[in-house]
Amino acid sequence: MTDAILDIRNLTVRFGSIAAVNDVSLTLRRGETLGLVGESGSGKSTASRAILQINRASSGEVHFDGEELVGAKGARLKALRRRMQMVFQDPRSSLDPRMTVGALLEEPQVIFGIGTRVSRKARVAEMLHLVGLDPAVANRFPHEFSGGQAQRIAIARALILEPELIIADEPVSALDVSIQAQIINLLVKLRSQLNLSLLFIAHDLAVVRHISDRVAVMYLGRVVELADRDLLYGAPAHPYTRALLSAVPVPDPHIERQRQREILKGELPSPANLPSGCAFRSRCPLYAALGKPEICSEKLPPLAKVVPGQSAACHFAGETDKVAGPSA
Ligand code: SF4
Ligand code: MG
Repeated sequence: MTDAILDIRNLTVRFGSIAAVNDVSLTLRRGETLGLVGESGSGKSTASRAILQINRASSGEVHFDGEELVGAKGARLKALRRRMQMVFQDPRSSLDPRMTVGALLEEPQVIFGIGTRVSRKARVAEMLHLVGLDPAVANRFPHEFSGGQAQRIAIARALILEPELIIADEPVSALDVSIQAQIINLLVKLRSQLNLSLLFIAHDLAVVRHISDRVAVMYLGRVVELADRDLLYGAPAHPYTRALLSAVPVPDPHIERQRQREILKGELPSPANLPSGCAFRSRCPLYAALGKPEICSEKLPPLAKVVPGQSAACHFAGETDKVAGPSA
């Protein structure tokens, strides 16, 4: 029984004494887009690399379409990896500059022994067309393209083996804002056209809003909120999510939101020296507003259901309105 394409259970990735990913459990449903958001250092890239077995999990399980990925090797890993592909932040460093676009797109097919030269070239033309490029660009080199066009090429390469899952790690962060929307719209289109499941990683909540069905917010290696898109943006339950949303530049007359924005300017604590209890405590506006309740420093808040479709890791998730905000 699985409509989950990806099922991550209690995943932990340690580098020495630091848990870059700490007991993360997430499910990606087939055909779903899950946005994974957090500041740099929150563990979102490390988690995605552990899914692909680029980083080794220290503990936990990662099931892809029901099959355990952790510890998979050789032919079995290769077969599974074919079905999940990655799109990176900087297309120009992920595309070999010495290869033509055509050769870059043919290569995965060659590696997997797919097709004939003629059929592979036809497939390349088809994929370039699908991502909105003229198939004639196959004779050119990656550096001849703008960032947005190069990302289209990287997406075409990721899609050429007909994967079921795409993990996109900040695929638009290096692009101009006007181009970002084009690439996101392309991914939205491709997702429904090709029935893809998508894990879309970003450091900014605004970026994943349009594309995500659900959003997971990470802070210092842990998921602190996981919610259906409209719940997360409409009624964020975790103070960190609220702070991230308040940093999204929207016209807002509430001076309290200004205040929140400033409070979050506090530095991210060192992962090697986390505060006790809730790791967000050192920056948490709600903790301050509630008069520093002891439970926040004593007990790690579990990710727990707030309302159906929304979970948060905060002892006071139901009381975020104690900090002045839109509904205060
Ligand atoms: Fe803030 Fe306490 Fe909630 Fe942590 S558990 S987010 S410190 S209120
Ligand atoms: Mg990253």
